[in-house]
Amino acid sequence: MTDKQLSTSTPLIELKGINKYFKMGQGELHVLKDLDLTIHRGEFLMIMGKSGSGKTTLMNIIGFLDQSNNGEYIFDEQDASKLTENQKSELRNKYIGFIFQQFFLIQSLNVSQNVELPMVYEGLKKEARRREIAHDYLSLVGLEGKEHSKATELSGGQQQRVAIARALVNEPLLIMADEPTGALDSETSSDIMNILAKLNDEGKTIVMVTHDPDMRKYATRVVYMKDGVFLEEEEFLNG
Ligand code: ADP
Repeated sequence: MTDKQLSTSTPLIELKGINKYFKMGQGELHVLKDLDLTIHRGEFLMIMGKSGSGKTTLMNIIGFLDQSNNGEYIFDEQDASKLTENQKSELRNKYIGFIFQQFFLIQSLNVSQNVELPMVYEGLKKEARRREIAHDYLSLVGLEGKEHSKATELSGGQQQRVAIARALVNEPLLIMADEPTGALDSETSSDIMNILAKLNDEGKTIVMVTHDPDMRKYATRVVYMKDGVFLEEEEFLNG
């Protein structure tokens, strides 16, 4: 029996021979160098590395926000090279939830409206239903009762919880977190990481980028990037 037949399911993501170049003056900057990466369903994968190593560029490719110059990208058994731009953005809205260092909440909207936004994009017209779902996810991240607050009235940690609720409402296959604790103090960072770890325990696949070695303990696997290549891997039994 082959490995593939033995596995219970196919990987969520497979990247093979990925290269990314950015134009720089007369030349090119080779940012991702022949990368291979497989992300299994249910993993909490952490991509670590110093600033400039190519982490965000890789995340942008995984999140269909950018594309590689060559190589193969398979997401949930779909070959990205065969998808139209519309199909990619549909896939992004439906199957990927994003969390960023700077939260990116819309300040003029209240907490519930921020969480409802992905459902609006998905075409869920019934406001009462949207509000109900937003309420459920806000409760999950410990923000019950904050639905009507403005984003500006919340602390950084609370804003990141709103962003997590917003990332979850469409029940994505993958949560992508780019330095989600980068703007938070260490205690608040632990709170946010505990929420992500709990989501992962419940089966959610998470890919997170960080430069903070203290975050390794939350991952089921850590890969290290340097100058556009992976150096080594650590696998954790607690996963
Ligand atoms: P990291 O997230 O690890 O800090 P990045 O992926 O942001 O690294 O950047 C890797 C390298 O690519 C850096 O040298 C950066 O300056 C360069 N880079 C990133 N985005 C662009 C772009 N849009 N145009 C040109 N160079 C870029």
